[in-house]
Amino acid sequence: MSNIDFDVTIVGGGVIGLSISYHISKLIPNIKILLLEKEKRIGLINSSRNTEVIHAGIYYQKDSMKSIFCKEGKNKIYKFCEKYKIKSKKIGKLFIDNSNNSIENLLMIQKQAKSNGLNDLFFIDKKNLREIEPNLNTNLALCSPSSGIFDTYDFISKLEALSLNRDVTIVNECIFTNAIREDRFWKICINHDQNNHIKTKILINSAGLQSLDISKKIFNINFDLIKNYTKGCYLRYKGVSPFNHIIYPSLKPGIIEERVDATPDINGGLRFGPSAESSNDNINFETNKEILDKFYTKIKEYFPLVIKNKLIFDTVGIRPKVSSKKSKLPLDFKITCGNNFVDLVNIESPGLTSSLAIGSYIANHVKEVI
Ligand SMILES: Cc1cc2nc3c(=O)[nH]c(=O)nc-3n(C[C@H](O)[C@H](O)[C@H](O)COP(=O)(O)OP(=O)(O)OC[C@H]3O[C@@H](n4cnc5c(N)ncnc54)[C@H](O)[C@@H]3O)c2cc1C
Repeated sequence: MSNIDFDVTIVGGGVIGLSISYHISKLIPNIKILLLEKEKRIGLINSSRNTEVIHAGIYYQKDSMKSIFCKEGKNKIYKFCEKYKIKSKKIGKLFIDNSNNSIENLLMIQKQAKSNGLNDLFFIDKKNLREIEPNLNTNLALCSPSSGIFDTYDFISKLEALSLNRDVTIVNECIFTNAIREDRFWKICINHDQNNHIKTKILINSAGLQSLDISKKIFNINFDLIKNYTKGCYLRYKGVSPFNHIIYPSLKPGIIEERVDATPDINGGLRFGPSAESSNDNINFETNKEILDKFYTKIKEYFPLVIKNKLIFDTVGIRPKVSSKKSKLPLDFKITCGNNFVDLVNIESPGLTSSLAIGSYIANHVKEVI
C-alpha cells in the first residue's frame, strides 16, 4: 500500500477498533476507513482472552466512563446479539459470602450498585441457593440478574463482517509503526517501511497493550501514566458446568484481589479465574502453572465437590491496566478525543461489555470533527 488516502485510520483490530469501524461506517456514509491489525487475524489478543462476561456496571466509580459505558454497552450488546442471532444469556452473577466478615462486602457491592442506578440486585438465602445452585457451598449470595455471557467469537466476527460490508479496509499482519502530522494529514508508516506512507485525516489508537506507547510517541500525551499490566490465567473445568450462574467470591468494589471466579460459557462449559498477576510492562501469554494448586484450594471453599484432575489449563489474557506514576490505584478508561486523533488507553475490563457504547461515542466525535 502506498499513497492511499483514508479519512480515518484505526490501529488495532480488537473489539474496540472493530466497534469503532462498525459505528463510524454506519454513521457517516461513504467515509473511507482503514483498520490495521498486526496479528494474522482480528481479535486474537485480549478480545478473545477474557471471561466473556457482560457486566452489569456495578462496581465502577459513579459517573466514571467505566460505569457509563458499561451500563450502556450491556444493553447494546444484548440487543445486538438478539438482532444478529449471536448466542447470549442473562444468567446472572452471584456474589457469594464465603468468609466470616464478607457480608460487609456484599452490602458494599449493593450500595455501590445503587449509586450506579442499579436497583435490581437482591439477596438469596441458603435454602433458595440450594435449589438454584446445588453445587455451591455458601450461606448467602447477592444476585445481579442483568449480568450475562455471550459468544465473543461470533460477536467479533459480526463486527468485522458489518464493517467489511460498508467497505472498511481491514488489513491483517500490518504493524502500525509511526505517524507524523503534516499539514492536514497524518503520514502513517507501516511495517517499519519508511518508504511507504498512508495519508489519513484522523488517526485512532485502539491498540490495547500497545496503546500507551503509541499515545506517548505519536500524540505526546499521557506521560504521567505507566504500565501496570496484570496477567490473568484461567483453568477450564472438564465437562458440563456445575454452576448455572457466574460465581464471584465477594470483592471490594474497584479492587482486583486474588479470588477465583467461576464463569459458565455460552456452550455449557465452565472456566475458573482469571488470576491477577502483576506483569508491569511484560507481555507474555504463557500460563502460570502454579495456579492449579492455588485455584484448587480456593475453589474448594465454595465448590467442595471439585475434582482436581478435571481442572485443565486454559487461555491467558493481560489486562492493559495503566496507573499514574504516583499511585497504583485503579484508573478510569483514558479516552482522549482531539480534532485529528482519538486515543484509547486503559481499556481493561469492562472493555468488552462497553465496546458498542465506546464505538458509538467515538463515531459521534468523528462526525463532528471530520
Ligand atoms: C483476563 C481478562 C478478562 C477480562 N474479562 C472481561 C469480561 O469478562 N468482560 C468485559 O467486559 N471485559 C473483560 N476484559 C476486558 C476486555 O477483554 C478488553 O477490555 C477488550 O478486549 C479490549 O479490547 P481492545 O480492542 O482494546 O484490545 P485488544 O483485544 O488487545 O486489541 C488490540 C489490537 O491491537 C493490535 N495492535 C496492537 N499494536 C498494534 C500495531 N502497532 N499495529 C497494528 N495492530 C496493533 C493487537 O494485535 C490487538 O489485536 C477482560 C480482560 C482480560 C485481560
